[in-house]
Amino acid sequence: MLSLWLLAFFGVAILAYGAYRTVIVFRRRTRTGQRSEENRDWGTCAHCSQTFRYQLVHNGFNDSAYAYCDCCGYTVTVDAWSQHPPRLRLQYHRPLPREAEPFLRPCPCGGAFREGAHPRCPNCKQPLSADLATSYIEANARGTAKGWRWDRRWNGVYSIIVEERSVINWWKPEEMQAASTGHQATTL
Ligand SMILES: [Zn+2]
Ligand SMILES: [Zn+2]
Repeated sequence: MLSLWLLAFFGVAILAYGAYRTVIVFRRRTRTGQRSEENRDWGTCAHCSQTFRYQLVHNGFNDSAYAYCDCCGYTVTVDAWSQHPPRLRLQYHRPLPREAEPFLRPCPCGGAFREGAHPRCPNCKQPLSADLATSYIEANARGTAKGWRWDRRWNGVYSIIVEERSVINWWKPEEMQAASTGHQATTL
C-alpha cells in the first residue's frame, strides 16, 4: 500500500515538474522574442522608400568617436579603450576630426571615411536626412516617452549604424605598428 502511495506521489511530482519546465521554456522563448523585436529598429529612406535596420550609438556612453564613408555611408567607430595611432591626438564622444582621416584604413567599399560624410541608405546610397530621420528615430526610441529627443544632426554625440555596416578601430596597420613600439618604449 505504501509503495502505491509513493508511486502516485512520484508520478504527480514528475508531472508537475514537467509542466513547470514547459512553462519556464515557454516564458523564456516569449521573453527573448520580445527582446529581439525591441532591438529591431527600422528606418525608411526618403529617396527610395526602402526600409532598413539601424542601431543608434551613444558615443558618450560608448567612449568612442565615429565617421562615415563618403561613398556608401559605412560607419567607422574607434573607442577610447583600444590602441590608436600614437601620432594622433583624439577626442571622443564626437565625430572624428579631419586630422584622423589619413590614419584610417579605406572603407571596405573602397571609399574613404571623412569628416562631414553622412550615413546613407543601403539601397540607393543617397545620404540620409537627419531631419527626416527624426520621425522613425523618435518613434522607435523607448526614451521618447520620457522626453528624449533626437538632436537632428549626424555630427552630434549619436552615430548611426545601418544594416550592421560598420567597422571598429579601423586604423592603418602601419600606424598601429608604430603604436606598439611606442607602447613598449613607455613601459620599459
Ligand atoms: Zn564605403
Ligand atoms: Zn534609398
